[in-house]
Amino acid sequence: MIGNRVYDVAVVGGGVAGCSAAISSAREGKSVLLLERALLLGGLATCGLVNWWEPMCDGRGRQLIFGISEEMLKRAILHSYNTVPPCWKSGTAEERILAANTLPKDQSRYVSRFSPTVLSLVLLDWLKEEGVDVVFDALLTDVSVKNGAVTSLRFATQNGFERVRARAYIDATGSAEVFFRGNFPTEEGKNAVCYFAHTAGDGDCRKWKFVGGEAAWEQKDQSSFLTGTSRENINHTVQSGQLRLYREYQAGKVQEITALPTMPQFRTIRRIVGKSTLCGEDANAQMDDALCVGGDFTEKGKWFEIPYSAFYCEGAKNLVAAGRIISAIGQAWNATRVIPIAALTGEVAGVIAARAVEEKKSVSALEIKKIREDLQSRGILIHG
Ligand SMILES: Cc1cc2nc3c(=O)[nH]c(=O)nc-3n(C[C@H](O)[C@H](O)[C@H](O)COP(=O)(O)OP(=O)(O)OC[C@H]3O[C@@H](n4cnc5c(N)ncnc54)[C@H](O)[C@@H]3O)c2cc1C
Repeated sequence: MIGNRVYDVAVVGGGVAGCSAAISSAREGKSVLLLERALLLGGLATCGLVNWWEPMCDGRGRQLIFGISEEMLKRAILHSYNTVPPCWKSGTAEERILAANTLPKDQSRYVSRFSPTVLSLVLLDWLKEEGVDVVFDALLTDVSVKNGAVTSLRFATQNGFERVRARAYIDATGSAEVFFRGNFPTEEGKNAVCYFAHTAGDGDCRKWKFVGGEAAWEQKDQSSFLTGTSRENINHTVQSGQLRLYREYQAGKVQEITALPTMPQFRTIRRIVGKSTLCGEDANAQMDDALCVGGDFTEKGKWFEIPYSAFYCEGAKNLVAAGRIISAIGQAWNATRVIPIAALTGEVAGVIAARAVEEKKSVSALEIKKIREDLQSRGILIHG
């Protein structure tokens, strides 16, 4: 057994959501173990080279996202690349509204580029500071469930197969691996085939070089879309992207390639089918069981309240979803999967798991009022 210890909370996946969830549960005084298959924290934001922090505001000058998500951005850009617009660095409320009405997104919304390499180091240092145990190179392979409760997880590590036991589990794998392997209901997403790398010599080494598929993405022509759940689709997407980039390099269209992604860049792989599912029509609607709210990066003035019931499946007693796998479809999934909201839902999932452990209750049987009080004491906004 990893660490020979039963943790209060085990988090699977060390993307922005998993890191946020782990910090969140640790701040509730829980013992936390985070397991990650890669050798770096950050998931798509670092290994996937996605280094653009989508908006933390509503596009009308009002900040919606606070808490660990904002703290994560601030820590990421403290000593490195930082393109937060001036009105969000030091501006007044009036200046933010004026910017929202007059300037383009990258100068008016609460956004930033960041260094993916620095973020991965920031996250490891931060998790250690919060007392979270971190295990890299641990691939989840199996989930044991009894009477709706996860009893243990099995990981492939360099030591062979090892088990992890905890009182509550958080699935932050970006592909709902724990729910799926535990036979809880999940649904697959479809994706434009795309491949981004970082290149230098074309003006901005932090910018991505996009290779293939964007036209399909823009046009929403789903005929060429692929799921991210098979070995074949992952290999096709990654290998064709690598070779296409190399051809462009050979042809002199790219001067230097500075980094290649080390995880496939599928936007929506798999999500849970939760007790309720957030959908596009829920934009700007008040949800009875809302726990947090995030803006839609595609449209000014649009936001989604994220309900408690989107974090768990009925029947799953001690398992919570975090990040881009929460129960959402259509534009609600597209809007809530981005980095700031993945980190935000990670924090919420961490509070749910911690409370369930504290009260010895199922993750679905908690009092919403108490979860909200915890979140509000951390500065989280519940309603839009
Ligand atoms: C092409 C593309 C462009 C995007 N553009 C932007 C953008 O500009 N701005 C923005 O804010 N967002 C963007 N996004 C979305 C955003 O990057 C992600 O949705 C977000 O980072 C997801 O975070 P997460 O922590 O939920 O999941 P992930 O980042 O996927 O993290 C999941 C982690 O779990 C680990 N894991 C998975 N399976 C296992 C297993 N079996 N065992 C152990 N560990 C496992 C993975 O290695 C990974 O570290 C983009 C996404 C894509 C694909």
